[in-house]
Amino acid sequence: MTDLQVIPIPAERLGAMMRDGRDDLGNPVEAWSVHGWEPLRCCLRVAEPGEDVALVSYRPFDEPSPWAEVGPVFVHRSGCPGYADPRRLPEQLRSGPRILRTYAPDGSLDYADITRVPDGEDLQPFLEDLLSRPGVDRVHVRADASQCFTYEVRAGRESNTGDGHW
Ligand SMILES: [Zn+2]
Repeated sequence: MTDLQVIPIPAERLGAMMRDGRDDLGNPVEAWSVHGWEPLRCCLRVAEPGEDVALVSYRPFDEPSPWAEVGPVFVHRSGCPGYADPRRLPEQLRSGPRILRTYAPDGSLDYADITRVPDGEDLQPFLEDLLSRPGVDRVHVRADASQCFTYEVRAGRESNTGDGHW
């Protein structure tokens, strides 16, 4: 079994957006009126009405790459505690229907291993299988219909030093 490492939007990236008041495409960060279905990419749960949330454009890549897409994600504008346990999949966002988009270590899209998880099925066995394949460095979990980015998953490190720099 492969240990998983769940990666939300990094706190420093989110903090920079909120400080600058601009997202990765330069859009102003504005309040979103929460309906109660919005998946939050900072703490990986569904938003509740009344929470301070924004819809921002986010680029979930560190390296320059033609595959490094920018897309809309919901985040807390303030008061986010982050994601508590990166070794576990988020309870509210761990089942299909989802698209699992696979990437090689250089950030290039790995077309051959892209997988659709059917409605109601748990993502964990799909993620473990994909991350055990030789060409797959990371998986982007995305919404099925809209294909919006939800979170990234990598294989966990054997000897985690616990420094939190993911
Ligand atoms: Zn949050």
